[in-house]
Amino acid sequence: MLPYARQSVDESDVAAVAAAVTAPYLTTGPAVTAFEADVAAACGGVPAVAVTSGTAALHTAYAAAGVGPGSEVVVPPLTFVATAATAALLGARVVFADVDEATGCLDPAAAASAVTPRTAVVTSVDYAGLPGDVEALRRVADDAGALLLEDAAHSVGTTWRGRPVGGLADLTTLSFFATKNLTTAEGGAVLSPSPQLLARAAAFRNHGLVRDPAEQRWPDEGPWHQEVHAFGLNYRLPDVLCALGSSQLRRLPAFVARRAELSARYDAALADVPEVRTPHRPADADVAWHLYAARVPEQDRRRLFEHLRAHGIGVQVNYVPAHWHPVFADLGHRRGECPVAEQWYREEISLPLYVGLTDDEVDRVCDLVRGFFGA
Ligand SMILES: *Cc1c(COP(=O)(O)O)cnc(C)c1O
Repeated sequence: MLPYARQSVDESDVAAVAAAVTAPYLTTGPAVTAFEADVAAACGGVPAVAVTSGTAALHTAYAAAGVGPGSEVVVPPLTFVATAATAALLGARVVFADVDEATGCLDPAAAASAVTPRTAVVTSVDYAGLPGDVEALRRVADDAGALLLEDAAHSVGTTWRGRPVGGLADLTTLSFFATKNLTTAEGGAVLSPSPQLLARAAAFRNHGLVRDPAEQRWPDEGPWHQEVHAFGLNYRLPDVLCALGSSQLRRLPAFVARRAELSARYDAALADVPEVRTPHRPADADVAWHLYAARVPEQDRRRLFEHLRAHGIGVQVNYVPAHWHPVFADLGHRRGECPVAEQWYREEISLPLYVGLTDDEVDRVCDLVRGFFGA
């Protein structure tokens, strides 16, 4: 079976993990600080807080933004459910806004219609690795008095108009899950240019503990004293995984280059199959492609998916619209709410894309797709 995604772990990664697992600190040690600095360096110098997953990063970012009961968060539905679920868990109302037909990213016009005086955060998802129209979304968020959050789980390594992902929004979240552009097995990060937001994120991932006596309410309690001012969780990414992350970050430019080559190879091999819509290629972004998200006529999608699986090709569909999940249906969300995202879902099929995929394997997948459509 050709997998749909697979991590690339080489001897340098293994050596980094081996060194970390025998070091004095397994967690809360120097490898965490080093990894956070490495993430920041890869993301335009915007400081980062490492957490245990992309989901934890979203939860932490929303908490740092003050999302809670009474607030609203605008989210596109063409995403993994965590983008919306973490806001709902904090008590916010999730407002789904539709995506742009060409990119699959949050449509600024739809976002502008979805904001209200209660909107705390507008969340943009970098679908397949491509950022949305960040400048237009920035204006929408600013006009609403809301923060702009970029769910960049797909896009670490992408540069948009010369600016690396991580520095484009008020808050950016990354995922280092095994299938993503770089991995720590499980892991994630929150980035923010705002010292206040970053400090709140750092506190939330460590139980909300306040250790600086200057900030404590009862600093005279004793030298052991630490206190909680706002509830938090334990979302700390251990040193062992941070060491893997720092090692992977050194390989990120090569990962991005190989993903671009593979993606271009798919484009070329599928260009003359009229049923296949290949991904939009933006002029203003240098994209770290996480997915090869093709679109085919909706009546063919399921049969093509089954055909490829039957021939040992791992494929996926990204994504079931988030508001279709029964948990959101039970909150009153309905099919038809975001027709562009829903149609995208009906037509979408993600072909295998990962650093270790060979040119011959891409050709084999494309031959099967071409054969299916009689091309
Ligand atoms: C993977 C992903 C997440 C969640 O990240 P985890 O590390 O798996 O928790 C969130 N949003 C998007 C768009 C993702 O692809």
